[in-house]
Amino acid sequence: MNREIISLKNLSKSYNIAGKPFYALKEINLSFGEGEFTGIVGPSGSGKTTLLNIIGSLDSPSGGEAIVLEKNISSLNHSESARLRNYNIGFIFQVFNLLPVYTVYENVEFALLLQNFSQDERKKLVLQALKWVGLENHKDKKPDKLSGGESQRVAIARAIVKKPKILLADEPTANLDAENAHSILKTMKKINKELGTTFIFSTHDEKVMKYLNRTIILKDGNIEKETKK
Ligand code: ADP
Ligand code: MG
Repeated sequence: MNREIISLKNLSKSYNIAGKPFYALKEINLSFGEGEFTGIVGPSGSGKTTLLNIIGSLDSPSGGEAIVLEKNISSLNHSESARLRNYNIGFIFQVFNLLPVYTVYENVEFALLLQNFSQDERKKLVLQALKWVGLENHKDKKPDKLSGGESQRVAIARAIVKKPKILLADEPTANLDAENAHSILKTMKKINKELGTTFIFSTHDEKVMKYLNRTIILKDGNIEKETKK
C-alpha cells in the first residue's frame, strides 16, 4: 500500500433508538493508502454514508478511532475539522447541490472564496477544474440549463478545484443514467491518475464496479468482504 492516509481502528457508530443502542458501524478496521480508488459497496442502510461522513469529519465516531491525514477525528474541535475539510477533503453527493442563481463558473469559484486566493488565482483554478471535467464551454450557464451528468461534473469540479488530497463521493451516480454514470466514473478515474487524489466513494450501482481498484463490501455495519484488483 502507498503511504497510509486514513486509518480506522475498531471504529463504531451507534445511535440510541428507543433507549437501546443501534450500531450503524460495528468495529470497522480499515486503512486507505494515498492515491487509492476505492468503492464502499452495500445495500441501503449498510452504513456507507455514516462511514464516509466520519472519514470526512462531518460526523464523529462513538467508539474506536478514525485518523485522517494524521488527525484524530474525535479530538478535532469545530474549527479544526472545518479546516481539515476546507483544505484537504472534497465531497461529492448524490444530489448535486448547485446554487441555482449562480453560473457554472461561480458555483465552482464558490469553493475557493473561504481562502485567500486572488481573483487571478481563482480564475486559473476554476478554469482548470472545469477543463478536467470537460465543461469549459459551459462556464456561463446556470444549473437549470445543464443535464444531470453535466450537473454532477460541476459538483466534481467544485470538489476538486482546491486539489484536496481526499475526495469522498456518496453514491455519485445514483441519479444518473448508464451513459452519464460511465462518463462520471471515467472523469473521476482520470483525476485520480493525473492528480493522485485518493477517491473513496459509496455505491450500489453495478455499472461502476469495474472501475474500482478496491472494493469494500459493507453489510449491516460490518465489512463483509474486501477485494482488490
Ligand atoms: P447507507 O448510506 O449505506 O444507506 P447509512 O450510513 O445512511 O447507510 O445508515 C446506516 C444505518 O444507520 C441505517 O440503519 C440508518 O437508518 C441508521 N442511521 C443513520 N443515521 C441515523 C441517525 N441520525 N439516527 C438513527 N439512525 C441512523
Ligand atoms: Mg447513504
